[in-house]
Amino acid sequence: MPDGSESESRKLLGRLRDTMAEEAAGQARLDKITHLTADSMGTEVCSVYLFRDEDTLELCATEGLKQEAVHHTRMKLGEGLVGRVARTGKMVNTADAPSERGFRYMPETGEEIFSSFLGLPIQRLGEKLGVLVVQTKAKREFTADEIYALEVVAMVLAEMAELGVFVGEGAALKARHTQAAMIRGITGQEGTAEGHVWLHEPRVVVTNLVSDDPERERERLKSAVEKLRVSVDEMLAGASGEQLEVLEAYRMFANSKGWRKRMEEDIDRGLSAEAAVEKEQSAARARMGQVTDAYLRERLHDLDDLSNRLLRILTGQGSETGAEMPADPILIARNIGPGELLDYGRRLRGIVLEEGSVGSHAAIVARALAIPLVVRADRVLTEALNGDHIMVDGDQGVVHLRPDESVVSAFRDKIAMQAQAQERYASIRQKPAMSICGKQINLFMNAGLLADLPSLPSSGAEGVGLFRTELQFLIRNQMPRRTELVEVYKRVMDSAGDKPVIFRTLDIGSDKVLPYMKPNDEPNPALGWRAIRVGLDKPGVMRMQIQALLRASEGRPLSVMFPFVAQYEEFRAARAEVDKAMAIERKLGHKVPETITIGTMLETPSLAYASKKFFEDVAFISIGGNDLKQFFFAADRENERVRRRYDTLNVSFLTFLEGIVQRCSETGTALSFCGEDAGRPIEAVCLAAIGLHKLSMRPASIGPVKSLIMRTDLDALYDVICDARERGEQSVRESVLDYLRWNG
Ligand code: PEP
Ligand code: MG
Repeated sequence: MPDGSESESRKLLGRLRDTMAEEAAGQARLDKITHLTADSMGTEVCSVYLFRDEDTLELCATEGLKQEAVHHTRMKLGEGLVGRVARTGKMVNTADAPSERGFRYMPETGEEIFSSFLGLPIQRLGEKLGVLVVQTKAKREFTADEIYALEVVAMVLAEMAELGVFVGEGAALKARHTQAAMIRGITGQEGTAEGHVWLHEPRVVVTNLVSDDPERERERLKSAVEKLRVSVDEMLAGASGEQLEVLEAYRMFANSKGWRKRMEEDIDRGLSAEAAVEKEQSAARARMGQVTDAYLRERLHDLDDLSNRLLRILTGQGSETGAEMPADPILIARNIGPGELLDYGRRLRGIVLEEGSVGSHAAIVARALAIPLVVRADRVLTEALNGDHIMVDGDQGVVHLRPDESVVSAFRDKIAMQAQAQERYASIRQKPAMSICGKQINLFMNAGLLADLPSLPSSGAEGVGLFRTELQFLIRNQMPRRTELVEVYKRVMDSAGDKPVIFRTLDIGSDKVLPYMKPNDEPNPALGWRAIRVGLDKPGVMRMQIQALLRASEGRPLSVMFPFVAQYEEFRAARAEVDKAMAIERKLGHKVPETITIGTMLETPSLAYASKKFFEDVAFISIGGNDLKQFFFAADRENERVRRRYDTLNVSFLTFLEGIVQRCSETGTALSFCGEDAGRPIEAVCLAAIGLHKLSMRPASIGPVKSLIMRTDLDALYDVICDARERGEQSVRESVLDYLRWNG
């Protein structure tokens, strides 16, 4: 950039800074900015259009157009050139505006005499705020330097808007982050919560945008980048697996000359170091919205995270600012690792993630902690500020930010009703789940953390029907040691007391990738090298785990089951590992369990058709309905497009499950069901009606499920199911619901 224009943009920035420092009402400042910009750039017109609501822009200040049009001229998103800039987030630069496609002439502004047009979006970190325009009578395209200068003005406007500068008397903008917002996401964990926002990574507010001492700013940037590099290297030293990959990308960016150079150029043009970082961050966010390639998006996210770190170093803002976590925190993050989530633990009332997925590790932990979770809550990070009042509806996958009175009261009614129901459930806690027709259903709970165990007595569960052991592996940065596992398993058995616990051996692969294991690039991970397949092919970890379980039992009875067994032989081979481990333990003189019960999950349709010998041989079978259903219908349980497509109460699936019940009853094999459907009352009574008399579910579901079982005649319900099937209905749900409603 030639020296002359460099100092021009610095001069303009200097004048803008003075305006920012002055005490003036919002409108007066905007007027001054448009005047200064037109004057410095030598254009006849400079106008600011800001969003009134989501899709309406309003002319809020102008130099050069008719003043009567200010606050009167409005346009829809996409309408005219201004609307086009707002919709696409991209610049329009033309020498002949009237002949541009989509041009719309606004007679009240008097703009017909202007020919050239340069419009840029006013946006902050991906949030669209408005459009900044300059126009001239002479036909000419604007140069790169002029575009740069206008970009900087747009950025200053965006920052001022963020700081609430335009709010107040004669305000051009409504106060930001004050209006109610409803954000739709996807249910990660059911439940409702009210509280106050706690941002996992607080927003950094840049107050010092402009500087006339580029030398000093370059130095500040240099030393901040240096600090950043050191901190990334430190993190790298202790990292492994997937985390290592991310940090390597961080290091690449931290050392990137291009990134640094662009920021230095911004500084030379008059921005402060932090404003330069944010300008590049905004550009990366804008790109993020446009790229569809998953890998590239991830890398842009990495750059975004890194920019946040750099901003925190430069401004001294961040978690160390002393902001206090509210007493009722609802955590908001783009994404969060399972370890970090566990650090927050049960202090959190709710969790909202801008990204995340239903099957992510964070979701697994949130579920284990029974904290309502909404994932894919689009733009929640842009909208939410620390301390905002927030209501999370995990049942509907909806978040209400700064809710108004009507939402608050409706939501509180819902919470109160749930609390009343909880009281009702507490009153039946010690009662057996006995149906009206006299069938007793055994209800167990699923668990995965030591922290789950305290809910065993209060849930009314008869024991733990599924203890998922992978969480201890997922939340660490390295493979847990055997002694650590012995400790965990021992404490699980101690807390359960006399109640039985079924430990499931490690179920990794597919969606559950250990951070310290080399990821496998598989075309179809759900059908790939996972669970017992890994355990049998590379038995080291499974052996260590079995040994830990045997030692933890200290002679007490032990129940173990294997995940994802697809054929009899896999079960036999896995059981042989247990026998071998028992023999070794005996030889070493360690106490072995007084009885050991070895069963398997049934998660692949193939196992339902295994030989009779298998059913006679296995001690028990637990149907993993989550996986079984996805393989039965060939519909990925993680894929939002298809995961709800097929009903659990579809007659094909129920008939298939009934077949398994039949086979187990022929051989007297103990059978249970431990997928998520066991915890849904309607599904649960149907499962019970077709003969699944042992159900294992999340602790919070036991009350509602028990309550419905106690009010249902399962024999009559079975007839309803059979009739619906006879009639050729696809799903028995409607008939079942009618029957249940009819019976109150
Ligand atoms: C299942 O598949 O139903 C199950 C209980 O296992 P997970 O959800 O851990 O895969
Ligand atoms: Mg499973």
